[in-house]
Amino acid sequence: MKLSVCSGGYTRFFIHDSSEALRYYANLGYQAIDLSIDNANEGLLDDPDGSHAKTIKKVAKECNLWLYQAHAPGANEPTNPKLAKDLAKAIEVCGYLEIENLVIHPFMTEDISQAIPLNVEYFSQFIPLLDKTGVKLCAENLGNFNDVHHHFKTAEMLNALVDKFGKKYMRVCWDTGHGNLTNQDQYENVTKIGSNLGCVHVHDNYYPIFVPGEQYAFDAHNFPLFGNINFDAFMQALIDINYKGTFNLETDTPNRRGHRDFVYNGEVTLKLKPIPFEIRRRSDEMLFYIGKYMLETYGLWED
Ligand SMILES: [Zn+2]
Repeated sequence: MKLSVCSGGYTRFFIHDSSEALRYYANLGYQAIDLSIDNANEGLLDDPDGSHAKTIKKVAKECNLWLYQAHAPGANEPTNPKLAKDLAKAIEVCGYLEIENLVIHPFMTEDISQAIPLNVEYFSQFIPLLDKTGVKLCAENLGNFNDVHHHFKTAEMLNALVDKFGKKYMRVCWDTGHGNLTNQDQYENVTKIGSNLGCVHVHDNYYPIFVPGEQYAFDAHNFPLFGNINFDAFMQALIDINYKGTFNLETDTPNRRGHRDFVYNGEVTLKLKPIPFEIRRRSDEMLFYIGKYMLETYGLWED
């Protein structure tokens, strides 16, 4: 299984240029990329002559990186015309870059009975584009431990959405961190998703089993093995369903997430907010070895 990382970990913090991100991750040993089209600074949603996408294609080839999946822009705004426009553009970009899987966030509804019809109706507008490009939408599991309105937390709901929308056009993206925050069993859910699993978002956090409280449980996107997800359960599930996609890390550590300002001499002090490049580079290097270790331990590492 190829080791992948999302490009947004680089483009969000340093240079807003995906081709630079591709070179950076290839140098660290990563074999595949999850292209963060959701990142507004990526430039791919506003690329009238296609030159940005062209450069990405060229660099990915040079660096021998597999562009296996991308992340679409997402907001819980089904009536926002800009979102529909951006999603259409993201599908076209994926088609051009031969990215098979485009991750989308299913919309939330107050009433669970409306969750599947609303999402099926909304995403149906893109079917002609999906036919043209061959791209599959991957519905991601979302939600939080105190979030009562997000209905797409379980394999059952995600599979039901895929069944209704059509397997020809839709798959599932299982996010380990969101699964943990909604207290889902990783093995049970991933094996139930089975052949519907298109791609994964691997990262860690702390579900408040031991210390209940919001401050300990948030969508931290920590490195795997830095939280309380049982990754043995997740790895075994990938094997048992014969998953053929990439092992994609969706982390963004280190990232200072202060909740309480420190005001000193009348000014908010954020001296430690910018993380120096060298710390991040070493972190991304360590992240690579964590991913490699996980794959090797389960006999899944591929050169
Ligand atoms: Zn995710």
